[in-house]
Amino acid sequence: MAQELRSQILEILFGLQGYSLKGLELIGKNIYLDVENNGDHRCSVCNKTLNDSKYDSHIRVIYIGVVNKKAVFVRFKQYRLLCPDCGVKVELQTISEGKSRYSKSVGSLVIHYTQYTSCSEASHLLGIPERTVREIDKNELQKHEENHIRNVLEVQQIGIDEIAHKKGHNYGTVVINHLTSKVIWMSKDRTSESLKEIYNKFGLSFESLKVASMDFWKPYFKATQETFPEVLIVYDLFHLARILNRYIEEERRLYQKSLSDEERKYIKKHTRWILLRRRKNFKDYHENRLQELKEKNERLYEMYLLKEDFLSIFDRNNDRKSAEEMILEWIENTKKTTFEALKKFARSIIARLQTILNWFDCPVSNGKSEGINNVIKTLLRRGYGYKDFEYFRLKVLQKCGYLMVNLNE
Ligand SMILES: [Zn+2]
Repeated sequence: MAQELRSQILEILFGLQGYSLKGLELIGKNIYLDVENNGDHRCSVCNKTLNDSKYDSHIRVIYIGVVNKKAVFVRFKQYRLLCPDCGVKVELQTISEGKSRYSKSVGSLVIHYTQYTSCSEASHLLGIPERTVREIDKNELQKHEENHIRNVLEVQQIGIDEIAHKKGHNYGTVVINHLTSKVIWMSKDRTSESLKEIYNKFGLSFESLKVASMDFWKPYFKATQETFPEVLIVYDLFHLARILNRYIEEERRLYQKSLSDEERKYIKKHTRWILLRRRKNFKDYHENRLQELKEKNERLYEMYLLKEDFLSIFDRNNDRKSAEEMILEWIENTKKTTFEALKKFARSIIARLQTILNWFDCPVSNGKSEGINNVIKTLLRRGYGYKDFEYFRLKVLQKCGYLMVNLNE
């Protein structure tokens, strides 16, 4: 085979430059390509040519890709050279970075795979162990973190959400761009300081920020108000419904304590989920369940109606003024009941009334960020995030941020 062809095979198939193919061996599921450096032997520290100063050598094996379901490695003799300036140093090789056991160009192949599949699936496709895929994956994604930051650009509306990233209630913060439904950043906790850090990190991108939506978590409000006094803070409907559902659950649990075991079991099994569902999303059998609830358990039914009353204020085309009247009326009605948890909710509404009404000036929807939440949950189920938060963040930025933007071309 001509010298040129022996180099082209390595270059075109595996992105290796300056090496030529000398031989090939198939061992099990691995293919080993024996290669040789086309050029001089150079000191890896000072780059000096030292063809006649070989000290000793060893065989290097570097992973370079996959062919025909087999993992492909290059095998070559790497010398140590006696450099007059640096002493005994390993010779320069351009296939991998330093001591790394995978080639520079295979990194982009690996993150191309892991963008669409899990590391364990990618490990089957790439023919290397899962831990190696993870190691390459993390290293490569780290290199492209700057790419993500550069691509965030101008952001006008953000959504801030908490994310449980560890077993046992360990909450982090995720900030998304509402208009593109992409993740801007994630931090490990949900303090005011860590949100401020995110704001600082993306200072330029947030210069024309107009709206920030969030739940009732005070540190988010504080950080946002202190950093961007002009930005409109909105409690979006998705968060409001989630907060109200928490109080509904609390109310249901309080109520259940007064029941017999049998009644309690029945409610837990048949009624719990109907209480949390919006009537506008009902199917026929949900209506039947609700009817049953009305007949069998008036108290829970009443609670359901109160919840629907509140949320439907946001469903209709109300303006700020009429919505304010309706919310105040709802609070008055709730005060007259014996629902202690809902009264607590009413008090937290009163304390935030003007911010809640901001939604009618800017009805931000968090609907699209549901998709992001699902991706994050999938990543957590696959075990990212429990041990290595930084890797978890990189995976989130890879799958629903800007990390891969322009890299796929
Ligand atoms: Zn040297």
